[in-house]
Amino acid sequence: MATINVRRDVKDSFYRYKMPRLVSKVEGKGNGIKTVVPNMTEIARALSRPPAYPTKYFGCELGAQVKCDDKNERYIVNGEHDAEKLQTILDGFISKFVLCASCRNPETDILIKNDDILMDCKACGAQNVADMRHKLSTYIVKNPPAQASKNQRRQRKAATAQANGEGHGPGGGFVEDEEASDDDIISQRINKEAAGLNMESKLVQEDWSEDTSEAAVAQRMKELAVKGVGAFGTEDDDEGENKYDLFGAWLEEQENPADDDIIAKAEELGVYGKYKACQVLVQCIFDESIATQIPKRVKLLRKFITEEKHQKAALGGMERLVGLEYKDVLLKKVPTILMKLYEADVIEDDVFIKWGEKPSKRYVDKDISKEVKKAAKPFLEWIATASEEESEEESD
Ligand SMILES: [Zn+2]
Repeated sequence: MATINVRRDVKDSFYRYKMPRLVSKVEGKGNGIKTVVPNMTEIARALSRPPAYPTKYFGCELGAQVKCDDKNERYIVNGEHDAEKLQTILDGFISKFVLCASCRNPETDILIKNDDILMDCKACGAQNVADMRHKLSTYIVKNPPAQASKNQRRQRKAATAQANGEGHGPGGGFVEDEEASDDDIISQRINKEAAGLNMESKLVQEDWSEDTSEAAVAQRMKELAVKGVGAFGTEDDDEGENKYDLFGAWLEEQENPADDDIIAKAEELGVYGKYKACQVLVQCIFDESIATQIPKRVKLLRKFITEEKHQKAALGGMERLVGLEYKDVLLKKVPTILMKLYEADVIEDDVFIKWGEKPSKRYVDKDISKEVKKAAKPFLEWIATASEEESEEESD
């Protein structure tokens, strides 16, 4: 089978990303004329996308009806279209929905976050939002690739947990979801427990108000000074540690900066998309009111906290905030803080569980880490059970 470069603008025959050249076969005639792409499955596999994505893309671009029969691997576009024309349209699909917008490498995964399509680049680590105005984007969001489907379920679940915990609506009823499926029964049970845990945590919380007194601010600045240059980077790499300190110092200076400004600053400093930025972000944009601040920053957190590494760093930032800055007030609120992060759907169950397993001296002294993780126990026990039930459900 003839192969071509995934990026046809690259003429190098040693370019490592190849795909089969598109084959088309016209069937029928008159009004029933249609074009079959017999090797769509192979092309899609080379691009790591479900075959329905490029097929639907053809439909959008040509204004033609398409038919995707995954079971029989038959992908059809109505009308008569030659292979070269389809190949050129496929270039557009690859450019929009396969290549990384930052480095043009095709090794990207599609992640659906907050109804945005993120192209997660394995080569450079960038996560760019796909062209959400394209009609295909709506289809992709509704039909995420298989690996994204678990994520979506989690988002739904977190949304219901939040609705329950915060008692929205009469009787704190569940959010109706048109996609409700069998696993919602389990979800509901978990959500009830989550709501229960919220209640418990609320009982142990005393009133607190944001301490913006001069003394408190002065104290924070002093602590920041103590952190000094290099405080945010203990693991060496060639990214230049200073950028993180600059990012942290900038965040501390701002009074309630807007999400977009934070992203712009992170981009300017070259730390956007880097996992260490997650640690700095969590440590610096939140204070002793972190539990009430997290829900207001969900969108921002989702933009920064992506892969497992980023999730771990965010938990590290939380450990530093609790352990180094506000231990007296925040230690007993750790389960609530973790629950808020869970509800924000930025950290996966497994990452919470692994994080809680043993104290680590990566972000704080081992003793402090031990204290924080001990304080986290009610949450960790809950998530272990919830997660177990979820995987039992999945294996059925
Ligand atoms: Zn890239």
